[in-house]
Amino acid sequence: MGALLSRAVWAMLAGALGALVGDVVGRSVGQPGLGAPLGAAFFAALAAAVEGWRGRRLLGWLRGDQARGAPRDTGFWGELGYRVERALRQREAQIERERERLEQFLSAIEASPNGVMLLDAGGQIEWCNSVAADHFGLDPVRDRRQRVTNLVRQPAFVQFLQAGDFSDTLSLVDPLGRRSFSVIVREYGEGLRLVLSLDVTERERADAMRRDFVANVSHEIRTPLTVLAGFVETMASLPLTPVERERVLKLMAQQTDRMQALVADLLTLAQLEGSPRPPPDRWSSVSALLRRAEADGRALSAGRHEIDAAGGEDFEIAGSETELLSAIGNLVGNAVRYTPEGGRIDLRFHARDDGSAEIEVADTGVGIAREHLPRLTERFYRVDGSRSRETGGTGLGLSIVKHVVQRHGGEIDVRSEPGKGSCFRLVFPAARLRQRVAAAASPAAVG
Ligand code: ADP
Repeated sequence: MGALLSRAVWAMLAGALGALVGDVVGRSVGQPGLGAPLGAAFFAALAAAVEGWRGRRLLGWLRGDQARGAPRDTGFWGELGYRVERALRQREAQIERERERLEQFLSAIEASPNGVMLLDAGGQIEWCNSVAADHFGLDPVRDRRQRVTNLVRQPAFVQFLQAGDFSDTLSLVDPLGRRSFSVIVREYGEGLRLVLSLDVTERERADAMRRDFVANVSHEIRTPLTVLAGFVETMASLPLTPVERERVLKLMAQQTDRMQALVADLLTLAQLEGSPRPPPDRWSSVSALLRRAEADGRALSAGRHEIDAAGGEDFEIAGSETELLSAIGNLVGNAVRYTPEGGRIDLRFHARDDGSAEIEVADTGVGIAREHLPRLTERFYRVDGSRSRETGGTGLGLSIVKHVVQRHGGEIDVRSEPGKGSCFRLVFPAARLRQRVAAAASPAAVG
């Protein structure tokens, strides 16, 4: 209203000024009656033209993209331009804030370790994060607005979406059969769907390993138990001579030994898996470890092999002495069991330039074919099952060794050739080794 009033006042003022000027001019040219109306009309038209021009300028700005500021004017048009521009800029800032929030929200979903996909009411992909794209073989940008069942064609998935009952979880396997996924769908809004996918490959692998492990343990225990039950029955039902009785008892003792060894190894493994890492500051002499493993090997070999340990005199290793001794002892035990009489077994220590070091157990025994090497440390994996069992093996020795070494930050490396012997190396990192301080040595001599 105020603006209209000011426009009217402005028009009247212009008209009055025009009438005044027109009157003066009219009188001077001898037309006193015509001057005032003509002057008023001319000034009013001029004022209207100026107003029209300012209005058009503002309209031109509004018709454009408003990237630049509104025309700077005074009065009505100036205020109109200023207010329109201010409202526009406020709206733009609000949209920008909303856009940033949406961006943050999507970045958070993008960072999710699970796959997240949003479907519209028609089953078209609204958005998906890169994990979902990886799980379903999609392109997060190119496949947007595509119908998901045209892209993910696995019948189980298509049926699941079409059935519309999302109370259960869907299990999917990728087309190459290498990865397994668990898929959950939830409905929201009006017919919109949220598809969540979770990679369960590792979990399923662990479950399968656990099942295999239980099956293997049961099998390993059942065999000696069956043999024992047979002997018990024989002793109960048949009259045996003292010699026969002694033989049967000896065979029974062998089977119980086998079960005891198995249970002992299983307990060792369970303990290794369930206990914290060995301390990094409890130091044991490397040469003492080698000597003790050498002595145990000699006892086991009973003079059938030449066994020699050397090196490591100046070095100490950090960790659990019992575990390390059990690992080296297992390797020496294997070397004795898989090396024919007269063979040689060497225990060595080598310090490397980078500060790491290796403990090596090499034998001149039967050796191992290349195809078995990658699987040797698997539980119950045996190259020659009957030889292993005959010599009291449980099939768990090398997996214990691997566990121990890994718990000490190291790794196991095997080189072997059938008929030429084997060399097992336990490589430990520099952080677990130190050179011993000799009693009389100055600090500068310490490595
Ligand atoms: P086992 O109790 O059967 O010896 P391990 O886990 O200690 O189980 O070893 C796995 C398999 O690796 C053994 O069955 C054996 O076939 C092979 N093996 C281990 N050490 C040696 C070795 N020094 N020489 C030849 N074969 C070996």
